[in-house]
Amino acid sequence: MYRHCIDCGEPFPVENGQEWKIRCLQCWREWRAEQDDQYDTLIGTMRHELAGLQAECDWLREIIAELEPWAEIGRALADRAHDVLFLVHPDKHGGHPVATEIASWINSEVRR
Ligand SMILES: [Zn+2]
Repeated sequence: MYRHCIDCGEPFPVENGQEWKIRCLQCWREWRAEQDDQYDTLIGTMRHELAGLQAECDWLREIIAELEPWAEIGRALADRAHDVLFLVHPDKHGGHPVATEIASWINSEVRR
């Protein structure tokens, strides 16, 4: 049995059980080489993107490491918000504007 190649149009032999073949051997080899080239290009692009993502990950890890002590301070202050509010209350500081501002800020944070 013969079929016509979808690429070159030439007839090529097809044995029983190989009805799935759509290209002659030469065209299949060329098609396969093209697929390999596209695959290599895709792999190159993915490696480049992976390197960029790894660099971004390293950068974000550095930022997280720098922020971690501040996060711990923030958690400790949040746990003791009522004590801090007691200490900065404007009544204890003659109504000083900074005490008023800080007390207002802590109150708004506690309500969140
Ligand atoms: Zn062909």
